[in-house]
Amino acid sequence: MSELAKIDIKYLKGVGPRKADILRSELNVNNVEDMLYVFPFRYVDRSQFYKIREVDSSMAYVQIKGKLLTLRTIGEGKSSRMSGTFSDGTSTVELLWFKGGRYIADQLKIGNEYVLFGKPSYYNNQLNFVHPELESLNSAEAKRTMGGLHGVYNTTEKMKNNFLNTKSIQTIIFNIMQTHLANYQLPETLPAYLLSKLSLPTLDTCIRNLHFPKDKSLLEKCQFRMKFEELFYIQLQLLQRNSIQNKKEGFIFASIGNYFLSFYQNHIPFQLTDAQKRVIKEIREDVRSGKQMNRLLQGDVGSGKTLVALMCTLMALDNNFQACIMAPTEILATQHYLSISKMLQPLSVQVRLLTGSTKTAERREIYERLENGTLQLLIGTHALLEDKVKFKNLGLAIIDEQHRFGVAQRAKLWGKNVRPPHVLVMTATPIPRTLAMTLYGDLDVSVIDELPPGRQPIKTIHRTENNRLGIYDFIKRELAKGRQAYIVYPLIKESEALDFQNLEEGYQQLKNIFPEPHYHISMVHGQLPATEKEQEMQKFASGQTQILVATTVIEVGVNVPNATVMVIESAERFGLAQLHQLRGRVGRGAEQSYCILITSVKQSKNTRERMDIMTSSTDGFEISEADLRLRGPGDLEGTQQSGMPFELHIADLARDGQILQVARDMARLILKNDPNLEVPENKILKEQLLKKAPSFDWGSIS
Ligand code: ADP
Ligand code: MG
Repeated sequence: MSELAKIDIKYLKGVGPRKADILRSELNVNNVEDMLYVFPFRYVDRSQFYKIREVDSSMAYVQIKGKLLTLRTIGEGKSSRMSGTFSDGTSTVELLWFKGGRYIADQLKIGNEYVLFGKPSYYNNQLNFVHPELESLNSAEAKRTMGGLHGVYNTTEKMKNNFLNTKSIQTIIFNIMQTHLANYQLPETLPAYLLSKLSLPTLDTCIRNLHFPKDKSLLEKCQFRMKFEELFYIQLQLLQRNSIQNKKEGFIFASIGNYFLSFYQNHIPFQLTDAQKRVIKEIREDVRSGKQMNRLLQGDVGSGKTLVALMCTLMALDNNFQACIMAPTEILATQHYLSISKMLQPLSVQVRLLTGSTKTAERREIYERLENGTLQLLIGTHALLEDKVKFKNLGLAIIDEQHRFGVAQRAKLWGKNVRPPHVLVMTATPIPRTLAMTLYGDLDVSVIDELPPGRQPIKTIHRTENNRLGIYDFIKRELAKGRQAYIVYPLIKESEALDFQNLEEGYQQLKNIFPEPHYHISMVHGQLPATEKEQEMQKFASGQTQILVATTVIEVGVNVPNATVMVIESAERFGLAQLHQLRGRVGRGAEQSYCILITSVKQSKNTRERMDIMTSSTDGFEISEADLRLRGPGDLEGTQQSGMPFELHIADLARDGQILQVARDMARLILKNDPNLEVPENKILKEQLLKKAPSFDWGSIS
């Protein structure tokens, strides 16, 4: 396709410099080849015509034959718009153009017959069409665009304002077909044996049919091929990068020794769940393989990741290596330190805590003992990454709550020994399988998909602002039983000032409803100095205060088993994964716990759906799948920080899991037989990978 990649779009018929600029900035389309890869996101059947009275606003795009009866400008200045009346002989409907009205009026003639194409909607309680397309019934354009399946293209506001709508995109592509593709076959981008093995249509057939489908069955085959191809090359790249021969040399933890065995046989506080056992085995295989472990451990809140981390640490110590565990906050690091050093007490393992508030003298001692090897396990925050922290022989680094750390920080860990240590990254934000497969390829992912026995599921309830008094009564009853409650407010950068005001107002209101001296309330938010935050949290953790009013700073890690109520204000503004994380702060003790989601009375369909998922499921994976479906991969918690490393043109991770599986299996098979893609029939794969390489920006997860 390189021929077409050389032709700038501004030279195309119907484009020109202005539209070219907009295509560039809005769709990242620079040349003719790019333009052909702007695919419709849906198709409408234009052999079907509707009557106006059959149409309602729940329908997608529809087509109506009729006559334009009136056309006039309403209002003045900025709020002026063009309004028309359209009749199909039995009833009429209003047409509205908020922009470009004059231009449209010039093109249309009152009394003429048109084919109307648009999405019905309600405006002022009346059915109408906003910015519809009208095509003269007898024009060449109408003949071409009518009948059969027609693509609908994604357009942005800016594109629409510059007359780049579905119809004009279609025209541009039609013109490309008429000129550049008239006597030109698009060169194939997949090897011939793959096409025949999977019965895939050629690239040339696919591109033509995705824009102008011949029929439904061919369209489906073409869609499959293009989705397959997109996912296949991502998998090929990932699998090749993570293949055994590309893995780094790693330390070998040859034996299971005394620390591990003695802990497992005599001191472990509970029986491991099957999932914990499985994961420990997987890690055991990694650390004896001779290759560096780079493993992601996913496990829902409360699934017992800490114990797994601890047991892996013992494998390192048994082989005379040191280990470290890094957590994103001081509170979390301290909690790990307390629970782990308690469990390790009978083994007399040397453990220390290093955080920003560790005193200089103690710090010095820790540095020294790390270097001379007498300190075996270091637990802490980012402070671990500082250059002064030098290990004698670091063999294993464990990172808790991975998505809180940046790539550069993680890379620092690798430099702490002559060879990079084994790395285990633990996250409580489950990523849907399709996403994990695409983001991490063959990176090893372990999953704890089972909670320890005896947990009472948290009851989740959705209420509106109108129910607040009832909710406060409920909290009072729980507090009377000696329990504690969290009340969480959103605080989002874009609306920080307003959110802050809500938080303050909420706090004042709560102080009136839960007055001292009977009740005590703590408040924490991101703007408090760290020490004050710590103090407030500590008061809540020790039971001095019964209510903790907070922004999402509490999301990660705090463990207050006595807290049984989690109230989330403006719940519609949180992502599902985040709501699930917050909910995980309760239900940590033996008592029944509750999560109350408060939204405004008026809710969008999306909000209702999201709240329904939260009230019906407590499974983090199920919730993250739903989040992927409702919000798309770019917005998912856990991918937000790092961003998606690629852009998908046609495949959809929420829907195309099966195609992804085929693509992955195929890529794996090919690499198994030809790891470096050297045989002649795979030459094309290598070329395509090179061509696509700049668009993939992979980083190791640790
Ligand atoms: P998370 O995966 O969220 O980090 P934790 O490691 O904090 O979970 O474990 C949650 C709670 O479950 C802790 O109180 C821990 O002691 C307990 N726990 C962990 N493993 C087991 C087990 N196998 N059986 C019973 N309780 C367990
Ligand atoms: Mg944890």
